[in-house]
Amino acid sequence: MAFQLPDLPYAFDALEPNIDARTMEIHHGKHHAAYTTNLNNAIAGTELDSKSIEDILANISKHSVAIRNNGGGYYNHNLFWTIMSPDGGGVPTGAVGEAISRDFSSFDDFKTQFAAAAAGRFGSGWAWLIKDGSGKLSITSTPNQDNPLMDIAEVKGTPILGLDVWEHAYYLNYQNRRPDYIAAFWNVINWDEVNARYAG
Ligand code: MN
Repeated sequence: MAFQLPDLPYAFDALEPNIDARTMEIHHGKHHAAYTTNLNNAIAGTELDSKSIEDILANISKHSVAIRNNGGGYYNHNLFWTIMSPDGGGVPTGAVGEAISRDFSSFDDFKTQFAAAAAGRFGSGWAWLIKDGSGKLSITSTPNQDNPLMDIAEVKGTPILGLDVWEHAYYLNYQNRRPDYIAAFWNVINWDEVNARYAG
């Protein structure tokens, strides 16, 4: 039972001008596709090919570096496409809006802290908004294709929002200006999906 590359839930150019079509096309069709293929190759014929990706990530310390990198890459991009939308942006409402105000004092304070985590990740990695078992939110960041579901993560939790800060996510349009890409991300966040993941 191989993992499948999901279709993008919108057109390649749907997030312009915040994220350009060519970047989306390569990011989904080449990078995410490669993580998916390489994950399938790494688990083929093992007991892992009947496990969920969440199960694999929760026990990642027992598996190979190839499964860690490509399993993370597979999961992380699945999440990333869904938490963006051409109809996104604005101020979060609903339970997530309330939880952000509760746990970060204000949406502006949350944005400042999340942007700092994304900008401060040296090299390649991700910034995350995660929830714990009680629904409390926190911000964390992971290197490479690691994520907070992995048993090796310094800070663990369920990701409900994630930002890819690998150069492949922004370099064609923003070159070295990662902070400009982070600033544009706020315009495309699909808060309905973040709310669904918070409730889930
Ligand atoms: Mn990526």
